[in-house]
Amino acid sequence: MTDEPLVSVRNLKKHYPITEGVLSRQVGAAKAVDGISFDIAEGETLGLVGESGCGKSTAASSIIRLEEATDGEVIFNGGGRAGRERNADGTHPNDVTKFDDEELKAFRRDAQMIFQDPSSSLDPRMTVGRSVAELLMVHGMTDKQRRREIVEDLLERVGLEADYYDRYPHEFSGGQKQRIALARALVLNPEFIVADEPVSALDVSIRAEILSLLNDIQEEFGLSMLFISHDMSVVREVCDRVAVMYLGEIVEIGDTDEVFSNPQHPYTEALLSAIPRPDPSDQRENIELKGTVPSPISPPSGCKFHTRCHMVIQSDEYDLEQEDWRALLTFRDKVRAGEIDPEGIREALSPPDADPSVVDDETVEDELRMEFELPETLADDDAEAIVDRALDALTDGEIETAEDELSTFTTPCEEEEPEETDHGNGHLSACLRNKPDTEHGAPLADD
Ligand code: ADP
Ligand code: MG
Repeated sequence: MTDEPLVSVRNLKKHYPITEGVLSRQVGAAKAVDGISFDIAEGETLGLVGESGCGKSTAASSIIRLEEATDGEVIFNGGGRAGRERNADGTHPNDVTKFDDEELKAFRRDAQMIFQDPSSSLDPRMTVGRSVAELLMVHGMTDKQRRREIVEDLLERVGLEADYYDRYPHEFSGGQKQRIALARALVLNPEFIVADEPVSALDVSIRAEILSLLNDIQEEFGLSMLFISHDMSVVREVCDRVAVMYLGEIVEIGDTDEVFSNPQHPYTEALLSAIPRPDPSDQRENIELKGTVPSPISPPSGCKFHTRCHMVIQSDEYDLEQEDWRALLTFRDKVRAGEIDPEGIREALSPPDADPSVVDDETVEDELRMEFELPETLADDDAEAIVDRALDALTDGEIETAEDELSTFTTPCEEEEPEETDHGNGHLSACLRNKPDTEHGAPLADD
């Protein structure tokens, strides 16, 4: 492995236009990928991890140019030139996003993709051997016998048999199909492979085999790899470094060992906490990631993770348990979104055939507190008084008043976009708590 990056992604963006009406007027954009940057060295595997909807596949297809990026650069094989020898107009000669047809054809040989569903890269009407050999033909190898030899050899190297050449995709299991897809990705001798959730659709029992095959092949062929997964435990198996993605952005990146042993972003912590731990003496806190990734059409302000973050920063005015502060902000956001229905609760709590009004306000308020994990009484008197008034307003049907009361609760996390903090060794994170001169209390972890 050399230190020279094979791939340099710089501030890459992919925004999908949102249109409306018969004239398809653009009314907004889904910022699926919103400015990501990283390098992948020769022979290195970088993991890209995050929940479903974070923008991983969009990033992959923009990097490999199955889709056109909105902005940014993907510098491929820039050699020593990366960032130095630019064209007169400031563009880079090796920027994939600006390749013409001829350059793109060469790139399509050097960079290959493996998908979650191996069937997607295999034609059901073609023998698997032909499916793989076809690529050699497209790229100019006219000797049929030679093509067959190369493919047979590859089938063996991915753990199959040479005489599988003449069989059809339906004759194979999912794991075997993924091996064939891997052979197909390797046949043009690429330098770079993007694997998008390559084991997520496979039986748990065969995932380890395929991961270890990927590891072996990557080493044997000296490949650089972008390995995409929603599963941290899979990332640990194959990746030298890992980039954690949330809502179109990278919130943490670093060596796999460091990110796993010393996570600096609460989102990374939460993803790590989801890995099953067979060792009962493992005392790590269990962090539950509630809800799903918000829409990239109207992402949260400030730090995009603030709506779900267990470490969301308290405003100076209050002194609450961290989990109560989290509950309070979630309650505020739900009231704001009009997702609270006190009369529905009253009805649900009333006995069958009875008038819902037999259920008094206090019972409804208690139920709301329970639902939103608010304690019976908050430890901070001022905060308690506000919540009490908000709950009264809600049960009186005065939603706006409740909203006004609760809007006194604010967090720096929704106001300020976190900048990148450098933890050394290429380990970076973007969380307000990690600012070196933070006024927001101790960083997440410092050991
Ligand atoms: P992941 O692979 O991490 O699950 P994706 O890249 O598939 O995430 O999607 C990221 C976000 O972009 C999602 O909110 C998804 O709905 C949105 N998205 C993906 N493709 C399109 C598209 N063609 N048009 C509009 N939005 C899209
Ligand atoms: Mg995906």
